[in-house]
Amino acid sequence: MRATVMFGAGDVRIETVPDARLLQPTDAIVAVARAGICGSDLWPYQTMEHSGTGRRMGHEFIGVVKAVGADVRTMKVGDVVIAPFLYSDGTCVFCQEGLHTSCLHGGRYGSDGVDGGKGEAVRVFQADGTLVVLPVGADDAPMPSLLTLSDVMATGHHAALAARVGPGKTAAVVGDGAVGLCGVIAARRLGAERIIILGRHPDRIALAKEFGATDVVSERGDEAIQRVRELTDGLGVHSVLECVGLEQSTRTALSIARPGGAVGRVGLPQEEAIPESLPTFFDNVTIAGGPAPARAYIKELLPDVLDGTIEPGRVFDRVMRLDEVPDGYRAMNEREAIKVLIELKTKERRR
Ligand SMILES: [Zn+2]
Repeated sequence: MRATVMFGAGDVRIETVPDARLLQPTDAIVAVARAGICGSDLWPYQTMEHSGTGRRMGHEFIGVVKAVGADVRTMKVGDVVIAPFLYSDGTCVFCQEGLHTSCLHGGRYGSDGVDGGKGEAVRVFQADGTLVVLPVGADDAPMPSLLTLSDVMATGHHAALAARVGPGKTAAVVGDGAVGLCGVIAARRLGAERIIILGRHPDRIALAKEFGATDVVSERGDEAIQRVRELTDGLGVHSVLECVGLEQSTRTALSIARPGGAVGRVGLPQEEAIPESLPTFFDNVTIAGGPAPARAYIKELLPDVLDGTIEPGRVFDRVMRLDEVPDGYRAMNEREAIKVLIELKTKERRR
């Protein structure tokens, strides 16, 4: 089968790899119908050391079940399923607490012999605990929005929960990438009265406004902090969604929270230390967040996607085929595209 392999910074190829096949009775084989290129894929795209064997890529996908192991109970061949960006058993103490990202038997796609999502098929570990059966056909219309539940929409929701967004509150979203845009959707969905988006790309800001952002701050650093304070009577905001992970964006996020406020961090931190330790201490600012337990959120968010209440799939502004994935990385890396959707042909899915 064909799949996406990264060999080093800027070097992504579609290669022929061994077919996905059942190895454990808890496995399922999923023929991929749609996959996403993630902003987090851009970190290795910019920095990965050259590797002769390469690394399989992709952790956002929806597909059709092609085969199931003897112990799989919740799905059958032909079902349309969505995979969260990590696999999990669904039964351990952390999964039972809704924190599937800390599953004792979980892991990630694309490493140590695990298939990646940007290929024709994936052997999915712990199928019952990982995959969610969707009540749709593989070519139904809300597919782009459903695909966001595997990662970016779940992550935006996680940021909003960690930032304790609620009715009547003012929220700020730091970052206008796909996760930040989904953070705007999540903040509105949870009842925020005012949503300030911090970003500077016109196309993304326009989408943020359609998703519910009420104010835009395009400055950076100290100027951005000043601007948010002006917008909030000098107080700062109740809830901050940090959706970037860089030192400056984190510092901004922590500096615009008002006393007693909360910051939900979902941007992968690029620094060891958390800045603004003293001011956030004296202001009783809650600092929370981490990787989103997407598996725990899919069922909650699914009805809103199916009835069109939220349309996170609009963050995909380009559709490509599997063999165009290398160009998709380039387009996202050069900020030519917000997020790229990979559509696999039915013929590819049957292989
Ligand atoms: Zn678990």
